[in-house]
Amino acid sequence: MTDTPARTASRTAIVTGAARGIGAAVAKRLAADGFAVAVVDLDAENCGDTVTAITEAGGTAAAFGADVSDADQVTAAVEAIVERLGPPTVLINNAGITRDNLLFKMTEQDWDMVLGVHLRGSFLMTRAVQKYMVDAKWGRIVNLSSTSALGNRGQANYSAAKAGMQGFTKTLAIELGKFGVTANAIAPGFIETEMTAQTAERMGVSFEDFKKGAAAMTPVNRVGQPEDIAATASFFVREEAGFVSGQVIYVAGGPRD
Ligand code: NAP
Repeated sequence: MTDTPARTASRTAIVTGAARGIGAAVAKRLAADGFAVAVVDLDAENCGDTVTAITEAGGTAAAFGADVSDADQVTAAVEAIVERLGPPTVLINNAGITRDNLLFKMTEQDWDMVLGVHLRGSFLMTRAVQKYMVDAKWGRIVNLSSTSALGNRGQANYSAAKAGMQGFTKTLAIELGKFGVTANAIAPGFIETEMTAQTAERMGVSFEDFKKGAAAMTPVNRVGQPEDIAATASFFVREEAGFVSGQVIYVAGGPRD
């Protein structure tokens, strides 16, 4: 059999914000799929649980600390990943934060922080990693958007960032397609993680009641789990998904426009 780029490309994946929640589930799933996984989060020490879960299951993973919105930290982390795990050909831009408030109360800092982590962070990570994909003539980029991209009260900053992720994804697909690189976005609905737990707390509702309310508004009558998103990411990074690019898939238990 001849060696295609997919067969010769290194199988190293980077998942940002992978210390917990969706990122941790995606990291574990990609490791089970055979990737060596760089578990990136603000503090490398917080990545211990994810790395241990992967290595105990027989996979390969290592922890890297970086604030994805800081260009120097991104460059240093990607260099360390190349050195330790080999050139990355899969990138999951998952790191995220919320700073919710109604527009008239939203501070400039809350606006800048949210756009900084989601949009600037994804830009910096992708810019640092794309050359390894181009060299390999094979790559997969998956960006985390959200149903909030369609608009959500109290989330002017977050919904702008998540809509921005969709435009960013489509442009990556156009620019990098000729190098064998696909770019797609996953737009989750309500997923049970610390992020949604914190939203419940901020709203003064118990997490159980908050989840019940979200499930009742969801056609499949349940909230999402991080593994629902991990399964979708696993599809996008497969060889067979090479003709799927520039798409946004809503993983929300029902249809979204
Ligand atoms: P989460 O539980 O809050 O986890 C986010 C992770 O990202 C945390 O480990 C956090 O680290 C890390 N992080 C934050 N800022 C970072 C930075 N500047 N650099 C590196 N890492 C950083 O959130 P999640 O629910 O798993 O969400 C993951 C992604 O899915 C986010 O992009 C989110 O917007 C998106 N999403 C989530 C939902 C949902 O319902 N949960 C729905 C739609 C979209 P620290 O703990 O140190 O802050």
